[in-house]
Amino acid sequence: MKIKRITAHCVKLPLIEGSYRWSGGKSVTVFDSTIIGVETDEGLVGYGEVCPLGPFYLPAYADGVRAGIKELGPHLIGLDPRELNVVNQHMDAALLGHPYVKTGIDIACWDLLGKSTGLPVCVLMGGRFGESVRLYRAISQIEPDQMAANVAMYSEQGYTRFQLKVGGDPDTDIERIRAARAVLKPTDRLVADANTGWTQHEAMRVVRAVSDLDVYIEQPCVTYEECLAVRRNTTAPFILDENIDGLDRLLRAKADLAMDVVNLKISKLGGLTKAKQARDLCVSMGIAMTLEDSWGGDITTAAIAHLAHSTPEPFRFTSTDFNSYVTVSNADGAPVREDGFMKASESAGLGITPKMDVIGPAVVEVC
Ligand SMILES: [Mg+2]
Repeated sequence: MKIKRITAHCVKLPLIEGSYRWSGGKSVTVFDSTIIGVETDEGLVGYGEVCPLGPFYLPAYADGVRAGIKELGPHLIGLDPRELNVVNQHMDAALLGHPYVKTGIDIACWDLLGKSTGLPVCVLMGGRFGESVRLYRAISQIEPDQMAANVAMYSEQGYTRFQLKVGGDPDTDIERIRAARAVLKPTDRLVADANTGWTQHEAMRVVRAVSDLDVYIEQPCVTYEECLAVRRNTTAPFILDENIDGLDRLLRAKADLAMDVVNLKISKLGGLTKAKQARDLCVSMGIAMTLEDSWGGDITTAAIAHLAHSTPEPFRFTSTDFNSYVTVSNADGAPVREDGFMKASESAGLGITPKMDVIGPAVVEVC
């Protein structure tokens, strides 16, 4: 089986809530997602999706995915898409860095491996652990009382994990955390995710001011060293996200005891192959994970479900059903949330079928 053609398609994903806002006043109203199709000489087509959280969250932007596919695509024509490590080796040799560009191709190749063997991706990634995957809901940054109302609303929909977007004014953030915790059950988990938004002294004030609460602190500051300093001055469970972009950082953070949970995003690491590598290492090192991506629609949500469902349950902290945040569905067969949980499909590959009328004609074609 050989890769014959690679296509990229644009899909706009408007948010049901109208906008999504996080630290530093950053926000997105309509996501610009790229669907990647990898077609083989045997007629099978695999699909992947990449959707950066705007151009200012990670070093990634939507047009960069498309430009990157033009650069990378010609190096992959003729390769066997089922040989994931070979494909990844070729991608890394042809284009230094740019993990998000490689992500859609890698996911599409896993989809092809599944379709060609008749097995779901989660089985190929190690096997299905447990019945379903527990989800968190991200709570967009607005006024404290409105955020608490949204936490209560999503709690009624079955979610038991919440990620509060803080990283704004520290005094308002303290109010946000207190208001949200007050509407939750004792068994619910609350994460205050600052998305690098606090300076070190601000982070130190916030963690001290909420030290009586059951709350996790995620990525308070920009640099790893600042986060480590905050971590060493709080007893709150601590999560690193933006700083952990590969195995080097993961190993250093383990050696420094810099976190209790790590947030692994598929496109931050470069696809399912590299996310699996990091995931398996975390399991071996005893670190629980939030398994997700930067954003996306149905195809991203399917990829997340397969990664998460093939992770041993004690190490699954949370995952995300991004397809429930947006008004547009780009594929049939994607996971549908039930009471705050989702499942990976039991069909071959990712188990999704793109809606061709939604993903439209190719904006990039390499053959
Ligand atoms: Mg985060």
